[in-house]
Amino acid sequence: MSEASWSGMELGTEASRFLRKLTFAARKGRRKFSPPQYWFEEGKDFASIWFPSAGCAWDLTGHCFACNYGHPSRPHPDAMVEAVALGLAALQSVPSALWIGSFNFLDQREVPLSVRRRILALVAATECDVLFSESHPTTVTREAVADCIAYLRGKRFVIQLGVETTNDFVRKWGFGKGFGTVEVRRAVADATSAGASCCFNIMVGMPLLSEAEAIHEAIVSVGEAFEMGAESVTLFPCRIKENTLLYALHRGGYAEPTSLLALATVISAIDPSLWPRINLAWVTPKVHPGHPAALEPPVPHRDPTAVRSALAHFEATGDGTALIALLGDPTYQEWLQRTTSTISLPDRMLAALADISDSLLGGDWWRDYGRSVEAELRCEWTASTSARMTAGLPQIPTYR
Ligand code: SF4
Repeated sequence: MSEASWSGMELGTEASRFLRKLTFAARKGRRKFSPPQYWFEEGKDFASIWFPSAGCAWDLTGHCFACNYGHPSRPHPDAMVEAVALGLAALQSVPSALWIGSFNFLDQREVPLSVRRRILALVAATECDVLFSESHPTTVTREAVADCIAYLRGKRFVIQLGVETTNDFVRKWGFGKGFGTVEVRRAVADATSAGASCCFNIMVGMPLLSEAEAIHEAIVSVGEAFEMGAESVTLFPCRIKENTLLYALHRGGYAEPTSLLALATVISAIDPSLWPRINLAWVTPKVHPGHPAALEPPVPHRDPTAVRSALAHFEATGDGTALIALLGDPTYQEWLQRTTSTISLPDRMLAALADISDSLLGGDWWRDYGRSVEAELRCEWTASTSARMTAGLPQIPTYR
């Protein structure tokens, strides 16, 4: 597949089109905003520079139940490059690791090739060692990555992939992302053969899952991410953001926020030898251009401050020992019991979709499409998916 001929969106089934229609309807009412001239965030060894684009193409076409980076106005291509130049100039010093991106760095609908190359040339002229950027797995082609590597002139390139989970069923029915594991494996193979590395972004708290299910999912996904060739994994808690399908599901009583203790549980289940390869994101709210109002993940624990500081300690040092001691807390154990459902996940998902369809699209939609949506969901809820989601908490093996 050549970079130029890539079409981007899967055609999809009737159910996929229905999910997109719902997600699109939930985003109605968002106002376009003008991104700032430049935006950056500076840490000790890491800095992020956000440059403006016309928005994520997947967002604008009804994908991704939980994401909302807003709907920015289309900037002039020169303004995109200028934002990176201004961001770099504003840093006190250029750290060894830079994150530079908008939404999908390798997607030419969002970042024209000439813009991407000019940005990479700016990075190549800095003292940084490694550039991180994010792109949808479908946009990661050998040709595109090799082009980046050539312009980076010896800097390492790490591509963050918004995989969310390695479970195809949950990614589609819980998040509205239609690509499968086969596509993720292809993206990793193409990226690595072209000289880049991949970091998998894994969400702890996939929409519509109970807290225990979300924990299972994230733990298995971390193990599979390393098995699939990820150099590192970024774990992040789910936030329920306004103008998303997840927000509508929450208002309808079908989705609750997953707690920060779930994130702590996932970290504690990972072999400590892998902790240096685990990053955290969004543990504290991130104020980015176009950010919507969002619900904070709750901290159901007798000592919420201890949980937050143990997570901050892990983020700073890669040592999660303090988190393990916090998990036996009775407040959290009660929370886990309370958030567990006896209704099967497919039944819960179908009930939620039917109800939300009526409120967002009107009654005719579920009447017309409900049967084929149900058939597709139940067909994709295979025995292996079911077994994976109900097994005991797995331990992640060591990958070196
Ligand atoms: S999750 Fe990624 S692909 Fe989906 S809307 Fe958000 S930025 Fe776009």
